[in-house]
Amino acid sequence: MSLSQGRDLFMTPGPSVIPDRVLNAMHRAAPNIYEGDLIDTTDSILDSLRKIARTTGDPTIYISNGHGVWEAALHNVLQAGDKVLCLATGVFGNGWANVANNMGIDVELINFGTTGSFDAAKVAEILRGDTGEIKAVLATHTDTSSSITNDIAALRKAIDEAGHHALLMVDCIASLGCEPFEMDAWGVDVMVAGCQKGLMVPPGVAFTFHNAKAAQVSENIQKSSPYWNWTPRTNPDIFYLRFNGTPPTHHLFGLAEALKMLVDEEGLENVWARHTKQAQAVWAAVDRWAEAGAIRCNVNKLADRSSAVTTVVSDTVDLTPLHHWCQDTAGLVLGVGIGFGNYESNQIFRIGHMGHMNPVMLLGALSTIEAGLNALQIPHGEGAIEAAGRVLSS
Ligand SMILES: *Cc1c(COP(=O)(O)O)cnc(C)c1O
Repeated sequence: MSLSQGRDLFMTPGPSVIPDRVLNAMHRAAPNIYEGDLIDTTDSILDSLRKIARTTGDPTIYISNGHGVWEAALHNVLQAGDKVLCLATGVFGNGWANVANNMGIDVELINFGTTGSFDAAKVAEILRGDTGEIKAVLATHTDTSSSITNDIAALRKAIDEAGHHALLMVDCIASLGCEPFEMDAWGVDVMVAGCQKGLMVPPGVAFTFHNAKAAQVSENIQKSSPYWNWTPRTNPDIFYLRFNGTPPTHHLFGLAEALKMLVDEEGLENVWARHTKQAQAVWAAVDRWAEAGAIRCNVNKLADRSSAVTTVVSDTVDLTPLHHWCQDTAGLVLGVGIGFGNYESNQIFRIGHMGHMNPVMLLGALSTIEAGLNALQIPHGEGAIEAAGRVLSS
């Protein structure tokens, strides 16, 4: 019997829960796309995007998903035959490497496993041995499959210590607006992000950010795609060029509302602190469940755990029935497992705790998972919900 007649709760790491305020901001008639309100809204969005990425560099908004801006970023600073170093700590690092490969870029992929952050010293060592061939280092801030958050500041330090000129390019699609990220202070040259994770907007727009160094590199790149070329989109004479065509009107209204909530009202540092707290509550629960040996957090080291998503794995149990129980009986949709390392997708569930979340949703989801573990007789330690509650009330 399904007990679920209320609103389903999606605890997936994107698309994340969309605030009603964002949906309501999108519920309006089509605007003038040549002048007026929309132009001002776009300018204020670009300002807020700079604030959320902590950069004075240039954001570019594309009608796209994350895969699109992976391509956009590469297209603007690299060309076929160029060599890049790509660091993988899960499926998404491999994904960006694949895109680069398909574009004729020579990719050296370094796989750092799927249990913790990459080793910056190893990157420094490779860069020291390079004779100037490597044009960029590609890294994922938070890998949404493994739920590892990588130390980007350490990576910059490693590049600098090696005295290497490579651009640092970072995928923040899962982490922007959830986890601390400092584009300028950490010396990130190019960053990519999407709207449907931390930024709480329906999928449909995605972003590149680039600094002056990347702009300079870009000047010497032969660009075959007028669509991905970020140059005409930056400081355009006519608004039409900003999006290389019709702007994503309603996404912009939704995005403006979401950024107002995050940047102007809650404040970015509070947003980060809220995500940290909520993540710690999830870990407290999962770590208790783990005491019985059937399921556990994929990432052991606390410093390497993401505060946007938690990947739970099992070495012994098929978790497909748990996904079904949560969804069909209780109306809770967990993140599907994206297989990695030794784990098939049915040995994984992911809890997305990014974006528009509160303790009711979080404790509701954790209690529901525990009810599912009970219903399916999956061994788990006691006291998980109480432990999560303690974190939230401390
Ligand atoms: C979701 C995600 C992507 C892919 O984004 P799409 O919008 O699905 O194309 C890439 N990288 C990371 C880290 C992600 O979380």
